[in-house]
Amino acid sequence: MPDLNVMPEPSLAAPSMPTGTGKPLSVTRLRKTYGGVTAVDEVSMEIAAGEFVTFLGASGSGKTTTLMMIAGFCEPDSGGIVVGGRDVTRLAPQKRGLGFVFQQYLLFPHMTVWDNVAFPLTLRGVSKAEQRRRVGETLEMAGLSAMARRRPRELSGGQQQRVALCRALVYRPPVILMDEPLGALDKKLRDQLQTEIKRIQQELGLTVIYVTHDQEEALVLSDRIAVMRDGRIDQFDTPQELFERPRTPFVADFLGAANFLPGHLETQTAERTTVRLDTGGLITARPQAVPDGARVRAAVQPGRLVLCPPDQGFCTGTVETVTYVGTLVRVTVRPMGGADTELVRLELPAGRAPALGERVGLTADPANVSVFPDTEDGG
Ligand code: ADP
Ligand code: MG
Repeated sequence: MPDLNVMPEPSLAAPSMPTGTGKPLSVTRLRKTYGGVTAVDEVSMEIAAGEFVTFLGASGSGKTTTLMMIAGFCEPDSGGIVVGGRDVTRLAPQKRGLGFVFQQYLLFPHMTVWDNVAFPLTLRGVSKAEQRRRVGETLEMAGLSAMARRRPRELSGGQQQRVALCRALVYRPPVILMDEPLGALDKKLRDQLQTEIKRIQQELGLTVIYVTHDQEEALVLSDRIAVMRDGRIDQFDTPQELFERPRTPFVADFLGAANFLPGHLETQTAERTTVRLDTGGLITARPQAVPDGARVRAAVQPGRLVLCPPDQGFCTGTVETVTYVGTLVRVTVRPMGGADTELVRLELPAGRAPALGERVGLTADPANVSVFPDTEDGG
């Protein structure tokens, strides 16, 4: 039991944890199969020291399996893992020195918050004096100093998850792995803890690999996001790149809920690509290598479409629905000129809402329009 009289005063606790503690991590052609199922299929990536990377994908896309292989809880069929220049592929989990935070907090119920957080230090034989300093500092950083003497059941879910985070941080691992750590919490608490995780990660310069199926969470937290599908990485890029230059229709859809407008390739130059839409109009996109005359889909996100007078944009249609969502308005437009055309979805500032039934034209900055060959599998 720590002597609580020597716990640091919150106002006096110096931020003496070293910054820049994170290490780089690289994963090479990791693969894992279960019977006939390929859970992870040749995943490779380089993560820089201090980088916040998120694995984003639907349930079953291989996020947890990849993370568990990095952690050492799951043995890869093939491939390698290097942390800070050291090959850890064959090392036991506890020898890799990584920190983990899972959706289940897995706190020791009979121990106080303080003892839960001190536990990894006790395991490592850290001196009592050093334990006091580090535990005090870590709890302070997470705003938990006042709760040091409580037991887990006397805390809210959000507080328990913060204790779990402290327990991972306290021994200053070079890389922290988090698997849907906020999945069990309500939206408001999630937002708050996202901000805290990001702040602590930046303050300490930690390398973090975070798993989520929530696009918004990934966008808020990450320096780079690996979008996963069927055990593979579709694209590994900054949030901005994923939004502005999606490399596959899946990424355009998963991150931006893009509209896909069918047509065929009309012209292609170094500056621009133009597509003749099935509804008759011509849409200009950023340059992209697509076979001449190919069936394609032009992808543009709802928030990147702009209204214009009828017959002046790439498409004209009538407004079918107008839905206010806070300061935004969601609008659907039924395009004219084609049979069985899908509704086009727009997101506009609330002040720009058109009237129901109004005839409108649609335009978009070519930089915000992507073109993909029209393949069956959507990829
Ligand atoms: P995610 O975390 O993205 O939801 P997982 O990595 O848990 O995905 O799972 C990827 C695939 O591997 C899924 O098809 C899942 O059913 C399968 N899988 C994962 N773990 C096991 C296991 N222990 N035994 C058999 N199949 C598994
Ligand atoms: Mg999972």
